[in-house]
Amino acid sequence: MSSTFDDSAYVLPLYHSPRRLPLPPQGSAPSGPLPSPPPDGFVIPRIPPPDCPLRVTRDSRGHRQLPHVSDHPLPVDHERVIRLVKSRVDVVAKCANCAELAIPCEFSESGIPCPPCAVLGIPDCDYSDPYFFVANLAYHRDAYLHEERSVLVDAVKQNFLEPSQFSREYERANAWYYSAAQGAITRFLINCHATGDLAFRGYQCIAEASNDAGLLSRFLAIGHESGMHPSVLQTVAGRLQGLFNTFLGEE
Ligand SMILES: [Zn+2]
Ligand SMILES: [Zn+2]
Repeated sequence: MSSTFDDSAYVLPLYHSPRRLPLPPQGSAPSGPLPSPPPDGFVIPRIPPPDCPLRVTRDSRGHRQLPHVSDHPLPVDHERVIRLVKSRVDVVAKCANCAELAIPCEFSESGIPCPPCAVLGIPDCDYSDPYFFVANLAYHRDAYLHEERSVLVDAVKQNFLEPSQFSREYERANAWYYSAAQGAITRFLINCHATGDLAFRGYQCIAEASNDAGLLSRFLAIGHESGMHPSVLQTVAGRLQGLFNTFLGEE
């Protein structure tokens, strides 16, 4: 199946492949006739690919699973990996929770919630959402492949590349991208593991250590007013209830 290059879908790639333009095939003159099949006759891959591997799936227990896209991942501190996790599709300026609360929001990198969501104990910030992250990866892959595909098609048309070598070169470009994407997936999982429910567990520890019913009551009031997540308020309310039960039991 072939498709034409869609200029309307072109977006700036996040980074450029270091791959140089392939050398002309041996024995062919730049101005001579193109070998068969002609440039217009070979299959131009679709973007996004029909069998796109960048999908979130569910395991048998219903837990969300990120895809495995490369057996040769780049290290999590590789420059290309860092660029992927620190960029985002700039469609919305804020995560959904900050937009709803009408407060400033800040993106650091994928897998780390924005600061307001973090301190409010909100567990579902967009920036640590696997679907948000995978959509980002797909966006940057498509931008990169649009450019690579265009360069390779031009190389064939200018007789710098054998049409029969197009697929191999295009697969190389794909592998180059997916090795960085796999590193980014690993970094995303590390980030989620390190930052997930950190605030909730912190509030839980603080509440459990407190015997001050007045302080816990004030925390509940302020937390409710400032948009603290219900799971945090519940753990504080649970501690407060425990204190009252102890007090009543002692009477
Ligand atoms: Zn936010
Ligand atoms: Zn957020």
